Amino acid sequence: MPLIAAIDQGTTTTRFILTTLEGKVVAHAQYEHKQIMPRQGWVEHDPVEIWRNTRRAAGEAMASHDITDEDIAALGVTNQRETAVIWEKSTGKPIYNAIVWQDTRTNHDGDPARYQDRTGLLHNSYPAAPKWAWILDNVPGARDRAERGELLAGTIDTWLIWNLTGGARGDEGHEAVHVTDVTNASRTLLMDLHTLDWDDDLCRELGVPRAVLPEIRPSVGEFGVVRRRGPLSGVPITGVLGDQQAALFGQGCLDAGDAKMTYGTGLFMLLNTGTTPQFSEHGMLTTVAYHVEGEEPVYALEGSVAVGGSLIQWLRDQLGILRSAAESEKLAAEVVDSAGVVIVPAFSGLFAPRWRPDARGVVSGLTRFADRRHIARAALEATCFQTCEVVRAMEQDAKTRIAELRVDGGMTDNKLLMQMQADLLDACVARPDNIETTVMGAASAAGIGAKLIDAPLTLGETTTWHSTMAGPDRDRLIERWETAVERSYGLG
Ligand code: ADP
Repeated sequence: MPLIAAIDQGTTTTRFILTTLEGKVVAHAQYEHKQIMPRQGWVEHDPVEIWRNTRRAAGEAMASHDITDEDIAALGVTNQRETAVIWEKSTGKPIYNAIVWQDTRTNHDGDPARYQDRTGLLHNSYPAAPKWAWILDNVPGARDRAERGELLAGTIDTWLIWNLTGGARGDEGHEAVHVTDVTNASRTLLMDLHTLDWDDDLCRELGVPRAVLPEIRPSVGEFGVVRRRGPLSGVPITGVLGDQQAALFGQGCLDAGDAKMTYGTGLFMLLNTGTTPQFSEHGMLTTVAYHVEGEEPVYALEGSVAVGGSLIQWLRDQLGILRSAAESEKLAAEVVDSAGVVIVPAFSGLFAPRWRPDARGVVSGLTRFADRRHIARAALEATCFQTCEVVRAMEQDAKTRIAELRVDGGMTDNKLLMQMQADLLDACVARPDNIETTVMGAASAAGIGAKLIDAPLTLGETTTWHSTMAGPDRDRLIERWETAVERSYGLG
């Protein structure tokens, strides 16, 4: 039986898996890459290291289970979004490190909502286009070379696919493919959400010549075939999605109204809004969820919260009141409530839906009675309250009620957190056994693109949590949270 391969090129690691058509992962491998921080606020990756790690992970996973190229029928790619690379077409050498999505060098004082109606995004430091423009403006001669067609630009999907399909040497007479998928393109600030094509005015205004940009393809369909040299030889690439979109697809959120929340370092929520883009009045971004070739594109609203699991890390590493992230559950379960303590983890301001760069962290409601168990409980509640705010904002934008939230990410190991989330959200929280939804989403897209399967791969059994909290109790807690959030404003 054929296998499906998937690459998950993330911010800290590059992972590779092989799965059966039943969703059973038979082999995997992963490698970390260096985080390069030349100055405060700057974050870079070495694209060559990432490409090397991709090949190593693929080769290692295949070798570990005696799997050959012929056993693999399709390859999917998912990746950290918005991270920008520019390289030389003739040599394949990047002209600068990849500028990572977290990098703030392209911050500016202009109106962030300027391009929102066309692109769905805010013009802040996240999108890829200002990063490409920065490279073209700061590497000597780069802008002229770009205009002459000597350079290629891409997000990480584009960089990997170009290398996989032959790189500078091409493959058996074919040129390497310079493409991206529509979900990744929707994170650049250059793609018009309505036409799904690059917008010439945006390219001009943001200073990225069209000549360097890849062709935009549907997420599920043909991208190219892996070169003969190296692992995965001859395998067709048939599914590509940005990481959050891959998690949405992997969770099977294919109908309007389906939503997922990923609880990792930060919190990332996507809500499938169907085949017309919905624009937010409540601080959400609009993005392409996925596009199956030959069908209509599907859009999503997206809300991100900067601090999720990283608050737990802070309790562990900075305050030293937890030995491990998992201990937060044990400690918080020893008390019935947070004794009035509220933590607003606005370490770097607040993201969706409030967008308050002037906010800073606050711990409120302390009394002599409070101890580390209450602090641990308040930290878990902070994750839930922030999730509630994003969910409620999305419901208003999409004019729908989210009755079930599908969840994934490292924090969902915490069963107390899941129960608290169901209680505070007053909705069902559903977690699959296999929480590796991102890489499974890429594999699913590839499997569907190659016509091996017709629905996303199974993630095993689902565990659900339902609210057991009385309405007035919930209202009281939410009110206390809102008071604390207001205290965090103006401190930055
Ligand atoms: P990312 O993909 O962003 O690196 P993960 O999905 O691996 O993140 O999740 C890791 C985060 O989850 C860390 O910030 C960690 O503190 C938090 N975390 C992991 N396990 C638990 C747990 N049992 N309870 C609470 N938080 C947890």
